[in-house]
Amino acid sequence: MLCYSTSNKSLRLSMREAILQGLAPDGGLFMPVEIPSLSPNVVSGLRGKSMPEIGFIISKLFLSEDVGDADLRAIVEEAINFPAPLVSLDEQTKVLELHHGPTLAFKDFGARFMSRLMGHFLRNESQKVTILVATSGDTGSAVAHGFLGVEGIDVVLLYPRGMVSPLQEKQFTTLGQNITALEVDGTFDDCQKLVKQAFVDAELQKARPLASANSINLARLIPQSFYYAATVSQLALDNIPLVFSVPSGNFGNLTAGIIAKKIGFPIRAFIAATNSNDVVPQYIKSGVFAPRPSLATISNAMDVGNPSNFDRLREIFSSSLENFRAVVSGASFSDNETREAMILLKDKYNYLMDPHGAVAWLGWKQYQNQFPGAVGVVLETAHPAKFREVVEETLNLEVPLPAALEDCMNREKKAVPMENSYSRFSEFLRTSTIYGET
Ligand SMILES: *Cc1c(COP(=O)(O)O)cnc(C)c1O
Repeated sequence: MLCYSTSNKSLRLSMREAILQGLAPDGGLFMPVEIPSLSPNVVSGLRGKSMPEIGFIISKLFLSEDVGDADLRAIVEEAINFPAPLVSLDEQTKVLELHHGPTLAFKDFGARFMSRLMGHFLRNESQKVTILVATSGDTGSAVAHGFLGVEGIDVVLLYPRGMVSPLQEKQFTTLGQNITALEVDGTFDDCQKLVKQAFVDAELQKARPLASANSINLARLIPQSFYYAATVSQLALDNIPLVFSVPSGNFGNLTAGIIAKKIGFPIRAFIAATNSNDVVPQYIKSGVFAPRPSLATISNAMDVGNPSNFDRLREIFSSSLENFRAVVSGASFSDNETREAMILLKDKYNYLMDPHGAVAWLGWKQYQNQFPGAVGVVLETAHPAKFREVVEETLNLEVPLPAALEDCMNREKKAVPMENSYSRFSEFLRTSTIYGET
C-alpha cells in the first residue's frame, strides 16, 4: 500500500516510510492512496471474532507489503493485550470502554501498535533510534508505555516543569529502562520548539538518529479502527443501525471510525462530540472551517482549536460538505452540561463516566431521536480515575485508583532537569549514553 501527502498528492511513499517519517516533509499528513475494503461476506465472517483477530485482518490490508503475516499477527496481539468491554446503559445505549490499557486511556491502542511496528521496522538498523516527544500529559504516558522495553528504540520525553498533573508526571517519569524524561524549565510550547529544532539538526542526527511518534502518525490510526470493527462484529447487527458517538479533539479517533466504515463494517453514522472547542461541529453547521486558539475545559484532552486530522477527514469526504454531513453529525457541550451528564449517569445508571465520555454520551442523547431503532455506542476514552479531581468534585465521591496507577504513584520519580536551551538539550542528546539510568 502506497501513501501520499495531503499537501502533495503526487508524492508516493511506502507505508513503512510514511510511518517512520510520521509527517510528510512538506508538512502534510500521509494518507493511503486508497482505503482498502473487505467484501460483505468476509465482514460477516468476522462475527464474534476477537479484537486481535479482527485487528490482524484490518492491518494486513494496510501493511501486507511491509510486514510478514506472522510478525504482523504478533505485533497486533502484543499491542492489543487488554479488553475493551461494551457496557449496556439501556436498550439503546452502550458504552465502549477503551481505557483498560496500561495508561488508562484509548491512546494506548495507537501508541502500543505504533511502537511495536516501528520497533519491527528498525530492528535491523545498526544504530539505535531515539524517539523524541514533547508532551503536556496524556500523549507522553501512552507513548512512553508503548515503547517501554521495545528493542532498538530509546525514548526521550520532554515535559514542562510544574504543568502536568502529578499523576500524569508519575506515569512517564517512573518507567526507567529505555525511557528518559526531561523536565524542562519552560512551557509545553518550549518543549515542542526544542523537539522541532532537533529534527532539523542534521549534525545531531548523525550522532543520534531521531524519529517522531506524534499523534498524526498513520500507525496510530490503523489500530483505532479495530474497536469499531470489533464492536460491529460483536453486536452482530444484521438490521440494527449502529451510531458511534466519539469525543473528539484532534479527530484521530473519528477518522479511524470512518476508515472502519469505508473498509466495509456497517456503521450508520458518527457523532463528532466536542467540548466548547467546536471548530468541527461549526464546520458541519456552516461549511466554514475556522481554527482558533483552544479554550481550557474539564475534558482537557479535547482542548484543540486546530484539529490535526481535519485534512484527512476532508480527503476522505473529497472536500464535500454534503458527504461529510451524510456520515457525521456535530455536537458541542459546555463544562456545565458535561458535569450534569456525569451526575445523571451516576444517579440513573450508577455509571462513573469521565468528562470526555460524558461529552460523547450527550452527543448521542442529542441525536438519538434522529436514528429510530439505532443503538448508540458511546466511546469512553479515559478511566474516570485519570480525571479524578473533576470526577470527585462533580460527583462528591472518592474515585479509587486502579492498581496500575496506585503502583506508579508509589514509585520514585526520575527526571533529568533541563534548561530551556537548545545547546544544553542537544548536548544531552549527543552525550547521554546510559538512557533511562539518569
Ligand atoms: C486524546 C483524547 C481524546 C481526543 O481524541 P482525538 O483522537 O484527538 O479526537 C478524547 N478523550 C481522551 C481521554 C483523550 O486522551
